[in-house]
Amino acid sequence: MAADPILLTQHLLQCPSVTPTEAGTLAMVAEFLHHRGFSIEWLDANDVSNLYARLGSSSPHLCFVGHTDVVPPGDLSQWSVAPFKGEIQDGKLYGRGVVDMKGAIGAFLAAVDAYLSQHSLDKGSLSILLTTDEEGPSVDGVRYVVEQFKGRGEKIDACLVGEPTNTEKVGDTVKVGRRGSLNATITVHGKSGHVAYPHLARNPIAPLLNYLKSITAHPLDVGMTNFDPSSLETTSIDVENPTRNVIPSEATAKFNIRFNPTQTQGSLTQYLHTQAEESGLNQEGFAYTLQIQSSGDAFLCENQALQDLVCDAVLATTGLTPMLSTGGGTSDARFMKDICPVIEFGLVNATAHQIDEHIAVEEIHRLQASYRQIIQSFLRDFWDCSRN
Ligand SMILES: [Zn+2]
Repeated sequence: MAADPILLTQHLLQCPSVTPTEAGTLAMVAEFLHHRGFSIEWLDANDVSNLYARLGSSSPHLCFVGHTDVVPPGDLSQWSVAPFKGEIQDGKLYGRGVVDMKGAIGAFLAAVDAYLSQHSLDKGSLSILLTTDEEGPSVDGVRYVVEQFKGRGEKIDACLVGEPTNTEKVGDTVKVGRRGSLNATITVHGKSGHVAYPHLARNPIAPLLNYLKSITAHPLDVGMTNFDPSSLETTSIDVENPTRNVIPSEATAKFNIRFNPTQTQGSLTQYLHTQAEESGLNQEGFAYTLQIQSSGDAFLCENQALQDLVCDAVLATTGLTPMLSTGGGTSDARFMKDICPVIEFGLVNATAHQIDEHIAVEEIHRLQASYRQIIQSFLRDFWDCSRN
């Protein structure tokens, strides 16, 4: 009898795998895949577990990427069901991580089982890479594994990330890229003094406000196909001045930029410095410091063959033509994209990270059917990985 995606998901939900705890999740998946002929490799780093299971050794090679770690359940008294039980009520499966993304893992495992029960893998490779560090720092998880893969020349032709992508029903949205995200903190240094003698001080507040006005006065770009224009949002302005009669010596602002592939961390950093110079933050007794942290550049899957394959499989199994999106936050796709084309397709994201996270059982079955078709199209129809 073919493996049941709901039972598999319930088993995963019963493991309280809050980042970076493995809690038995990866061991369960490893055992499941080992029984189906996959070679099992552990690529652990520090307190993070990474499982890489592969069947076959030739191209084309399709790799499913996911994570079994979940965000904490929060206030337990607010849950109407226990978050780590995997209970079904009124046709809906509840539990922390069911949509992000244990349900997708259950669906993919069941799809692999269904495919292999009807076909032998005479050409190509199928692999699954799972980590316990996606919701956390994301340093020792897929990022680490990708470095190992680069070092040993592991060849992957396409990657499917199982993050929740749909808005209402499985099949409505496929993600073909992600925006980049950059956090910046700018501090303008002046000279403190008595408010009654401003000519003896250098008040940093006005130059800081001028700077913020200059970087928000014009759009950063016009956007591109599948991507909105990049956006800059100021998130705080701090002077931390407890007095009313002292001019502060420093003023700080923080902002975040969500950017499309027409920008990079480098181009934006240069722009922010140029605007600082033009706003006079380095003149007449002022100075500034600018700190930048980026959680990854933007990317777009430009492999049309992979996009078509996934969209055709989704249409054939769900009846929906998926919208191609690049919205939402970051995911491990940002690391995989360095070694192969990446596309993301999973469950409905409406309740991800929320109290009473849940999904209709039927949606997990729909996802399994789509995954099954993606595997079949990829391996049986000899997807030409040189096509681009
Ligand atoms: Zn996730």
